[in-house]
Order: sequence, then structure tokens, then C-alpha cells
Amino acid sequence: MTAGKGSSDLEKEVLNAGLCTSCGACVNICPYIKVVKDRVAVIEPCGIAEGQCYDFCPRTPTDVAALDRIIFGEERSDSSLGSYLSIEMAQARDSDIRSRAQYGGVVSALMTYALSTGEIGSAVLTKPFDTGLMPTSALVEESSQVLECAGSNYVPSATLAELNKATKQPRGAIGVVGIPCQILALRKMQASQHQTGAKEVKLAIGLFCTWALSYKGFSEFLRRKVDPSSVKRIDIPPPPANTLVVHTKEGTIEFPLDEIRGSIKPACNVCFDMTSELADISVGMVEGMEDWNTLMVRTAVGEQLIAKAKADGIVETRPLDEARLAHLREAALTKKRRAISELVKRTGNETDLLYLRLSDADRRNFL
Ligand SMILES: Cc1cc2nc3c(=O)[nH]c(=O)nc-3n(C[C@H](O)[C@H](O)[C@H](O)COP(=O)(O)OP(=O)(O)OC[C@H]3O[C@@H](n4cnc5c(N)ncnc54)[C@H](O)[C@@H]3O)c2cc1C
Ligand code: SF4
Ligand code: SF4
Repeated sequence: MTAGKGSSDLEKEVLNAGLCTSCGACVNICPYIKVVKDRVAVIEPCGIAEGQCYDFCPRTPTDVAALDRIIFGEERSDSSLGSYLSIEMAQARDSDIRSRAQYGGVVSALMTYALSTGEIGSAVLTKPFDTGLMPTSALVEESSQVLECAGSNYVPSATLAELNKATKQPRGAIGVVGIPCQILALRKMQASQHQTGAKEVKLAIGLFCTWALSYKGFSEFLRRKVDPSSVKRIDIPPPPANTLVVHTKEGTIEFPLDEIRGSIKPACNVCFDMTSELADISVGMVEGMEDWNTLMVRTAVGEQLIAKAKADGIVETRPLDEARLAHLREAALTKKRRAISELVKRTGNETDLLYLRLSDADRRNFL
């Protein structure tokens, strides 16, 4: 897939249009695009008409059905959650992992397992609170380092910039953990005709994501209440809590979610994917059960890893009840409808969804 456009088009269509998700896919592939915190900029025109940056970006034209065919061999039958083989609840068996993880520790347990069994030789992860409120991406080569990245930071990091940097030399099989926009960019990189280290990624674990917060807006908000550099953990408990919980070195504070909605990144309002639909395995929370994760297995790669991890006592699973599954489906559908409505509001044309290429039937389904 090559769109025949370059960095000046990326700047005009994505960066200046408020569509950038800060995924990092365009960073570290040339000297002309840089990231500072969660702000990405083209610092100089490069003059190349057909850039990798444009092709990799999750907010340049994206044909969802074509990616489905490449990854799953067919188009999706589930319009709200994408293709999957199974959905269950899961948790890490190791209580130390669970106590340091955001919820059930499935992501940390699986990445630790994949590294220690040699399924992958390295992993690109995100350290949530490495330097205060701004997360940083990390290349992890030892399974013992995975837990240093446990937890969630709701500010996005340019995680794929680390993948681009790490794969400047051949590395063998790599694992990546990312939010949906990062997994989409990763899949666009893998599907592209460009030579890219993303083709060495053999395991993609996607997180659920409803929205993320801009570093500037969120740190300014927090600074009025606490010292942002003392933040150790952030949680957005499932509905009906409607709060943001911030754990700092000094104590724990709760804020109504409405107080931070103004800091949601504009790009998140047009995001179509809540459950990392193109990952091998997708992981999110379980409503009302903070020690458990929702686990979606989507590909044969994911299925094999989970089967081995269960057999070796790394994770355990239980059925996810119908009511929670229905809520998950509804939340994913709501996000799609909100994104389509926002895109149509921006273009003023129901058939022009800026970056999203959907069939007419799918588009009408979400309008
Ligand atoms: C921005 C964001 C929004 C989210 N929104 C939702 C939501 O709406 N609903 C829901 O069910 N779940 C959401 N999640 C996922 C949830 O917070 C947990 O990450 C997920 O349930 C896995 O739990 P765990 O206990 O297995 O994680 P852990 O074992 O603690 O592993 C967490 C992993 O998350 C990665 N990570 C941390 N921060 C970031 C970041 N900023 N960007 C990329 N990767 C990161 C780390 O690399 C780590 O490997 C969100 C996560 C993020 C980062
Ligand atoms: S590739 Fe990612 S970081 Fe670069 S412009 Fe697109 S969304 Fe932003
Ligand atoms: S809502 Fe979408 S664009 Fe925003 S951080 Fe989450 S996955 Fe990325």
C-alpha cells in the first residue's frame, strides 16, 4: 500500500488538522520529523513525494476491510468488536504481577512469558511514569524488565518511535504492546511496501482505549491540584464511578471525569477502534472486577500463546458473562458512532470520512 504522498501532506492532512494520535510511527524513520512529549512536528520539508511517514500513519487513508483481509484472511463478521476467536476474562496467576499491574496483569504476564520462552527476543513497551506524567517507550530485552512497564498512563507515548529506532538493526522476533491507534499504525507498517522493522513484529498485544489525554492539558490541570512529578499510578475505574483516581507519593485524589474531559486529545474524537481490533490479543478491564482483564484472542498467533500460557500456569481464564459482553459491544459501537458523527461534522459530507475507508453498508450502519 503506497499513497504517493509525503511529509508535507502528513503535516497538512494530519498534524495541522488535529488528527495526530502521537503514535510515533512517523518518528525515527527520517531526520525531519520529531516528537517532544506527545507533540509531533515536521521540522523541515524533506521533498520526498512518497514518504513512509504518510503510509504508516493511522490517520491517513485507511482501508479497514483490506487490513482485515491481510491479518485475518477475511473481512470481519462482528461490526462492533472486529474479528476474534474468543472473548473471556483472564488474570495473571502470579500475585506479584497482579499487584503491580493496572488490572489483572495479563499484559505483563504474557509479555514476560513470551520473552522468557523465546517466542520473542525483545519487546517495545511503555513505561507509564518514568519521568513524571509523561510516559516513555522502552525496548525490553529481559523478561525481568517487563514489570517496570506495568500500569497505565492515559497520556499517549510515541511508542512506535522506539520500534523504528530499535529495528534500525535486525532484531529477530519482536513483541509490541500498544493502544488501538498504535496497533493500527503497526499493521499499516507491516502491510506497506516499504522496508520496515515492523515486519519483525511477531506478537502485537493491543489495549482497549476510549480516549487519551494531552500532556499539556492534563499536566496543567494536575499542577493546580498536585505535583505532577509525584504521580505513581492513575486509574479510570469502570462506570458508574465516573472518576479519575490519581495516586501520588503524598496520597490519593479523585476527580470527576468531567473536569478532565477538556484535555482529551482532539484526535480521539475521530477514533473508530476501542478494542485494538487488529491486534493478535486485545486486553482491557472487566467492569466491577479490578483484578481481572477482558481478553480477546484474535489471531492464531494469539491463540497459540494463550494456550501455552494457560498450560504453563501463567494466566487463568473464566467465561465472560453475557451482560458484560453486551456492555463491551455497546461501548465499542458508541465509540464508532461518535467517531463517524464527528468526521461527518468536520467534512460536511456523509461519504467523506477523512481517513476512514468503509464500505457504504458499514458507514450507514454507524451513522
Ligand atoms: C491511554 C489508555 C486508555 C485506556 N482506556 C481503556 C478503556 O477505556 N477501557 C479499558 O477496558 N481499558 C483501557 N485501557 C487499558 C487498561 O488501562 C489496561 O492497560 C489493560 O486492561 C491491561 O491491563 P493489565 O493489568 O494487563 O496491564 P499491565 O500488566 O499493567 O500492562 C500494561 C501495559 O500497558 C502499556 N502502557 C501503559 N501506558 C501506556 C500508554 N500510554 N500507551 C501505550 N501503552 C501503555 C505498558 O507497556 C504495559 O505493558 C487504556 C489504556 C491506555 C494506555
Ligand atoms: S504517524 Fe502517528 S505520530 Fe505521526 S502524524 Fe500520524 S498519528 Fe501522528
Ligand atoms: S482514542 Fe484512539 S486515537 Fe485516542 S489514544 Fe485511544 S486509540 Fe489512540
